[in-house]
Amino acid sequence: MREFKIAEPRTVDELAALLAETQETTALMAGGTDLIDELKSGVATAGLVVDLQKVAGLNGIAAEKDGLRIGAMTRVVELAEDAAVARNYPSLKQAALSLATPQLRNVGTVGGNLCQRPRCWYYRDPQVVCRKKGGHNCFAFQGRNKYHGIFGGSGCFIVFPSDLAPALISLGAKATVGSSKGDKTVPLEQFYALPDINVSRENILEKGQFLKDVRVPAPKAGQKASYVKLKERGTWDFALVSAAVAGVVKDGVFSEIAVVMGGVAPIPWRLKKAEVVLRGKLVTDALVRQAAGAALQDASPLRENGFKADLVYAALKEAVLSLAA
Ligand SMILES: Cc1cc2nc3c(=O)[nH]c(=O)nc-3n(C[C@H](O)[C@H](O)[C@H](O)COP(=O)(O)OP(=O)(O)OC[C@H]3O[C@@H](n4cnc5c(N)ncnc54)[C@H](O)[C@@H]3O)c2cc1C
Repeated sequence: MREFKIAEPRTVDELAALLAETQETTALMAGGTDLIDELKSGVATAGLVVDLQKVAGLNGIAAEKDGLRIGAMTRVVELAEDAAVARNYPSLKQAALSLATPQLRNVGTVGGNLCQRPRCWYYRDPQVVCRKKGGHNCFAFQGRNKYHGIFGGSGCFIVFPSDLAPALISLGAKATVGSSKGDKTVPLEQFYALPDINVSRENILEKGQFLKDVRVPAPKAGQKASYVKLKERGTWDFALVSAAVAGVVKDGVFSEIAVVMGGVAPIPWRLKKAEVVLRGKLVTDALVRQAAGAALQDASPLRENGFKADLVYAALKEAVLSLAA
């Protein structure tokens, strides 16, 4: 592991000023469960690691008049155990509990989960210089690609591994991005960026910026939501495909619906074509199949991951039928 300096700012202003002023290559560290692995293997390098643990005001879940504020340093276990989350956003609780292991949920944070790096085995191999690390090739494209994306690849076929991101996006969450220039709020959906915008990162954060919190709007009357995660193993695992569905449903008909999938694309993937099919009609298995078919028109499976198309239908069916019942 290469040497690095460590900084421990105490306030958001101190953090913002430090990030704006430093000339060092910087890495933010929340729980460190992903970052430390990357630094140890040499996949990530940093002259300065900025530890967020002591920054006041980045932590905790707070009810606000128009919803819930979840600080970036809130630990995943706190989210999973929060009474307001369980009551108003059950899919978020499902996603939090589906994630990693109790030990990792105890240390890992919401911000770290939303900003974690991909698990692609070529990207994680320090010997491989893929497009994400400044190289010219995506080795997954012609190589081993069972766990890679079927949507939105364009030259880099990672999948974004977070369970929280699809659930939060389906609930209409917004992200607050902090910096020395002040805060900026963006829909969480727009916090993520495809490889053709910036192949080296998965989000829009620029030098000096950090994720401060996410805000989830208060649930609408009749809102229901579900998170379904399909994995290869019965124990902890990343999603092969996951489906977060949220909407307003009555008598088996969605008047509003948002469908966001994990494990299928370099960013959490919104299935807008499926939403159009599902909105305003009585939900049946045939309708869900039609919705999955419409969404899959945009899919380009690789040599080893065509099975993910079937899982898109399966995850969508389980989530949608459970809410419409
Ligand atoms: C064995 C294992 C299994 C896992 N399984 C799952 C799973 O099933 N589902 C899932 O979703 N995740 C899974 N994970 C990922 C795990 O959830 C993440 O490691 C964890 O959430 C990251 O949180 P952290 O606080 O430790 O982040 P860190 O490791 O500290 O940071 C992760 C990344 O986010 C950046 N970052 C952190 N906070 C901020 C911020 N506020 N603003 C900007 N950038 C920031 C860091 O610079 C770093 O690049 C797994 C991880 C492991 C090791």
